[in-house]
Amino acid sequence: MSCDYRALANAGVQSLMPYQPGKPVEELERELGIRESIKLASNENPLGPSPRAIQSLGGLLEGLALYPDGGGFALRRRLGEVLGVEPACITLGNGSNDVLELIARAYLSPGRNAVFSAHAFAVYPLVVQAVDAEARVAPANPVDHAMPYGHDLAAMAERVDAHTRVIFVANPNNPTGTWLDGASLKAFIAAQPRETLVVVDEAYFEYVEEAEYPDTTRWLAEFPNLVVTRTFSKIHGLAGLRIGYAVSSPEVADILNRVRQPFNTNTLAQAGALAALEDDAHVRESVRVNREGLAFLTAACRERGLDFIPSVGNFLCIDMGREAGPVYQALLHQGVIVRPVGGGYGLPRHLRVTVGRAHENRRFIDALDQVLGR
Ligand SMILES: *Cc1c(COP(=O)(O)O)cnc(C)c1O
Repeated sequence: MSCDYRALANAGVQSLMPYQPGKPVEELERELGIRESIKLASNENPLGPSPRAIQSLGGLLEGLALYPDGGGFALRRRLGEVLGVEPACITLGNGSNDVLELIARAYLSPGRNAVFSAHAFAVYPLVVQAVDAEARVAPANPVDHAMPYGHDLAAMAERVDAHTRVIFVANPNNPTGTWLDGASLKAFIAAQPRETLVVVDEAYFEYVEEAEYPDTTRWLAEFPNLVVTRTFSKIHGLAGLRIGYAVSSPEVADILNRVRQPFNTNTLAQAGALAALEDDAHVRESVRVNREGLAFLTAACRERGLDFIPSVGNFLCIDMGREAGPVYQALLHQGVIVRPVGGGYGLPRHLRVTVGRAHENRRFIDALDQVLGR
């Protein structure tokens, strides 16, 4: 007798819709038989990794027979120095995605719930559902709000109850690019029960130049329930290495470190991250290229009468004024890969484009003109 192995899985896993990554260039070129396509679909750094990070990896290949330092001693020590916290406050992850999963695994279970906003990062519902906890999705800001589609902190607070163990706040949020100012976010955290972890996901922290944008790692001493996550995948250009981290109270870090795999971050990732932390010039140049690219893209949208969600990240969510799926497909035929944000993100008329280098941004706009018939 054979069993229905799908039906035997945990209830949450059975109905899980896997994360849809940006389409790889190789896949597109294989499928369409085209060349010289560009990918502006996963918010990767168009300048590539920090040259220092690349250099740091060269001498390590011979050592790959050995297991990595599971505790990530050198990287946690340096991160501690940079952030002004004890290394015991840091949890390393295989990307910050891993850390989000550790949080869910350690603090959520059936009968408990997590609160987050509509149009928030697609990984939150996945990690919550995988452990059979309840996801409470708060409606986002209305379209006519100064921060359209952004997190509505009051609506999120309303959904918190005695069983809420985690609140996910993306600042800035992906895919919308919207952000929360320090005063609002601090008041929100202060008003939450101490039993509820407030996870502030700062994957794009280094890109944000707004004066009122907070560095929430400064608030850790004040809020023992605060967890801040960051990554080397975005501005540091190391998405392929898979490394990110959480900063929290030592108690929370102790718990997260118990549930992670013993060797969840590898030798090359730890070394690359350590070197990238010392490369301020690469970070500054990445911010500059992003600022100019974002200005170009938003101006191009305005000229064409296309609405977009104001963004402080390295991406822009543009309203196609029609169902975006066919536009996405047509752009693929022009060799330009962007990201549809219908299904997982609930924005069926928008496409998210990562800010590239000048020639890539130009190429995207030209392709869009072709596709939209302008
Ligand atoms: C990209 C991203 C992450 C995590 O990426 P990792 O590569 O797993 O570090 C986390 N949160 C948001 C909002 C992101 O956009």
